[in-house]
Amino acid sequence: MRYHSTRAKEDFYSPKEAVLKGLCDDGGLFVTDELPEDGIDLGELFKTDYKSLALDIMGRFFDDIPREELKKAISEAYDGKFMSSLVTPLTEIGDDWLLELYHGPTQAFKDVALCMLPKLMSLALKDRDERIMIVTATSGDTGKAALSGFQDAEHIAITVFYPHQGVSDIQYLQMATQEGSNVFVGAVKGNFDDCQTEVKEIFSSKEAEKLLSEGVHLSSANSINIGRLVPQIVYYADAYRQLLMRGEIELHDKVDFCVPTGNFGDVLAGYLAKRMGLPIGKLIVASNDNKILTDFLSTGVYDKRREFKKTISPSMDILVSSNLERLLYYESGGDAELVARLMSDLKEKGVFEIDKELLARIREIFDCGYADEAEARRTIREAYGSYDRVIDPHTAVALCVAEKYKKKRAKEGNVRPLIVLSTASPYKFARDVYESIFGAPRGESDSPSDEEARKAGAASGEGTLEGRQETKEGGEPDGFYYMEMLYQRTKEPIPKPLSELRKKEIRHKAVLRRDEMAGFVYDNAKVLKPEGRNS
Ligand SMILES: *Cc1c(COP(=O)(O)O)cnc(C)c1O
Repeated sequence: MRYHSTRAKEDFYSPKEAVLKGLCDDGGLFVTDELPEDGIDLGELFKTDYKSLALDIMGRFFDDIPREELKKAISEAYDGKFMSSLVTPLTEIGDDWLLELYHGPTQAFKDVALCMLPKLMSLALKDRDERIMIVTATSGDTGKAALSGFQDAEHIAITVFYPHQGVSDIQYLQMATQEGSNVFVGAVKGNFDDCQTEVKEIFSSKEAEKLLSEGVHLSSANSINIGRLVPQIVYYADAYRQLLMRGEIELHDKVDFCVPTGNFGDVLAGYLAKRMGLPIGKLIVASNDNKILTDFLSTGVYDKRREFKKTISPSMDILVSSNLERLLYYESGGDAELVARLMSDLKEKGVFEIDKELLARIREIFDCGYADEAEARRTIREAYGSYDRVIDPHTAVALCVAEKYKKKRAKEGNVRPLIVLSTASPYKFARDVYESIFGAPRGESDSPSDEEARKAGAASGEGTLEGRQETKEGGEPDGFYYMEMLYQRTKEPIPKPLSELRKKEIRHKAVLRRDEMAGFVYDNAKVLKPEGRNS
C-alpha cells in the first residue's frame, strides 16, 4: 500500500512513513489509490469479533507491519481498556440504534482510535533512530484521549493545544490533570480553528526545521493521521456485525449511519467502510449550529466566512473540517490538482465551490442536517423521557438529525435500520445534559449553581489557578455538581475516571498566544533529546 498527498501524486510513502509524518509536506492529507474495495468480507462477519475485524481491516492499510506485531498491538490497545467487552456496543433506542463509542479510557469516541495510534507509531518507529513530538489541536475530546494514549510512550512526546475557555470544564480538567513525563498542554487564546490552523503552520515553521536537525520529527494525532482514521473503520463493520448476530438484518441488507460531525474524520471512516464493501445506504452528516457542512452538502459551496458559534456540543464547533479534503479527492476520481486548487481557495479566499456533478456524486452517498441548540436540548430531554436513555449533546445532535432524516426518507419508503453514532459519555457534559432534562435547579435562571459550586469550592480550599478556565474564583467546576445531580436523578453510573478527576492535581497551566505556540513545542521537545547532546 502506498500513500501520497491529496494535493499531488508525486511523492509516495509507505504506511509506516505516512503514520509517522501525519500530514504531507504540501499541507495535503495522506490518501491511497489502492483502497481495498473487497476489504470487508461480509461472509466472515458471522465468525469474527471486534479485534479480529480490526486486524483484517488495519492489516490492509498497514501492510508493512508484520501481522503478528499488529495483532499484539490491537490486543494491547483494546484489552481491558474499554468498559464493554464488545468495545463499541450497539444498543436500542426506539426503532433505531445507538453505537456506543464512548466506553474507552477518556469517555469519548476518540479513544477507539487513540488507543491504537501510539501503538502504530511505536511499530513504525522500530529500528529507526528518530524521536517524535506529537502536536495536536483539540476542540475538547481528542486532547485527553491523545494525552492518555501517548502517556509515557517511548521516544514520543506530545503537545496538545485547546481553545482557552472553549472546552467544557470536565474536558479542561481531564487535560490539565494529565500525568506523564512526556505530555504538555497549552490553552490558546483563540478558537479551535485558530489552534488547528496554527498547528498546521508549526509543521513548516523554523522551529520544526530546527527540531528536525536535532533528530526530532513533528507528527500529528489529529484525525488527519491515517493511524487515527483507519481504526475508526472497524466499528462501522462491527456495528453491522452486531446487527447480523442479533438477527436484525440479513447479509447484504443496507443500513444507514448518522454521524455527529466536526472534523469529518468519523464519517469519513464510514465512507471508507462503504468503499470497502460494507452495505451502507446513506451516511448522514449531522452538524450543530456551525452548520458549514450542511450548507456545503446542500449547495456545493464551502464558505467559512461566517460567525463561529460556541455550542453545547463543542467537539463539533468547527469551521474547517479537515478530512473533507480526502472525500473531495476520492469522489473527484483522484483529482489532486482540483483538491489543491480548492484548498488554496479556502486558504486565500475563505471559500471554495465544487461543480454540480461532483456534488451530485457526493449526495448519492451523504445526506446531511443540523440541530440547533434548542433542538439538541429537546432531543436530550426526549431521549430520557421516551427511552430512558441519557445521551450527551453530540449524540443528541445526531439523534435529532436522524429523526429529521427519517421523516424525509419515509416518503421514499426507505426503512433501512438507522445507526446513530454516540460519541461521548453524558457525564462529560453533565450540566447541559442535566439542565436539558430537568431544567435549572430550583427554578433559577442564570447560572443557578454558582452559589452551590462556590460553597463546594470554598470547602475544598482551592484558590484561583493560573490558566484555570473557570471564571468563578475559588469555585469548584460546575461539572462535578451536575455529575452528582445527574446521577441522583437518573442513576446512570458515573464513569470512574470522571468522578476521580476532582482529586487530581492541576499540572498544566500555560495560556498562550497563537504566536507563542511554536516556541512552546520547541521547548517541550527537550524531554526527547538524549542527555549530553551538544546543541
Ligand atoms: C470529535 C468528536 C466528534 C466529531 O468527530 P469528527 O471525527 O471530528 O467529525 C463528535 N462527537 C464527539 C463527542 C467528539 O469528541
